[in-house]
Parts: sequence; structure tokens; C-alpha cells
Amino acid sequence: MISPFYGRFKLTSPRGYRVLNGYEEYHKGIDLVGIDSNEVRAIADGPVYTLYEENGFGYYIRQYLADGRRIYYAHLSTFKVQNGEKVKKGDILGIMGASGKVTGTHTHLELRPEGYGNESIDICDFTGIPNITGEYEYSQCRSYDNTVEMLIDDGIITEENIINWELMLSGQAPLKAEYVRTLFERYHKKIS
Ligand SMILES: [Zn+2]
Repeated sequence: MISPFYGRFKLTSPRGYRVLNGYEEYHKGIDLVGIDSNEVRAIADGPVYTLYEENGFGYYIRQYLADGRRIYYAHLSTFKVQNGEKVKKGDILGIMGASGKVTGTHTHLELRPEGYGNESIDICDFTGIPNITGEYEYSQCRSYDNTVEMLIDDGIITEENIINWELMLSGQAPLKAEYVRTLFERYHKKIS
């Protein structure tokens, strides 16, 4: 999963049809509320543009992916980037807010295909965030999976060994990785 909020956040309104102020509308993105942080971070690499739309997205950012798809981060209170700046995934783009047409403070996150149209594509597919109202947690992590994180948390293996293990996977370090792998197997036996 990738999220514009580090730590815990809530999905308050999923993508899809909903009734708002008595009108049915298609909600093209997802509404997220940061719990541990109100900093909105880039979920991908690419240039960002700072924009304003009074009766819509408020202060918002449009980011371009390399393939032309567009990511929207809407209803910000403050920008933390310059117009046209090239950002990396995880960079802080702005602060969550309630600008534009909103009922409360949140960040509307939306994905659109390449071009100029306003049709959307599934942001949940892109981020891995479930399209279901609820509370989630995102911690920025390295390339290894949750199992390995769990092993580190439990003190079974060290960060140093993991780095070595990753080097081994790319064919650069055969020795210590064996040690990690042995521990890994032992741990799997322990929990199964
Ligand atoms: Zn929304």
C-alpha cells in the first residue's frame, strides 16, 4: 500500500456513487483524513502543479506520472512545493485542509488517465488502499516485505543482515545472506 499520509489515516468516502446534499454523484477519488500527520505526501515521482478551483478542488495539486496519468491531491490548506517542481514519492506536497467545496477537512485523492479529460481511473488499484471506509496505517518501508519487517521487529534478524540479504538477491553478497536465510527458515518453523 502507498498513501499520501504516513502513519494512521482514515478513508472517509470511497470511490463510487454516493449521495451528497440530496444529490447522487459519482465520487471519482477517495477521501482520506490523516490521523498521525496532516502532511500530504507524493505517492509517486513526477512534476507537480499548484492550482486553485474555488467551487471544487480548492487548493490542489496535479501531478504527472511518466506515462502521462495524472494524480490529484485536493482541498489542501497550504502548498509545500513550487509550481512545476519535480518531486519524489514521499516528498511533502502540502497540508491537508478544507479549501474548495468540502464538508470537512480531508484530502481527496484521484487518478486520471493521460490527456485532458476529467474521467477517473481507480486510485485504489494504484495505491493498494482498500476502497472501503475505515482506518488504515502506512509506514514507508524499504523493498522487503512485511514478513521481513516482522522479523526485524522481533529482533530475529538485523537491519545489517537484511541489507546483505538484498545484496545477495542482486548477486553481490553470497555469504551473510545464508545466515539470514537460515534464521528466516527457523523463524517460519517457529510460527508454523
Ligand atoms: Zn472526494
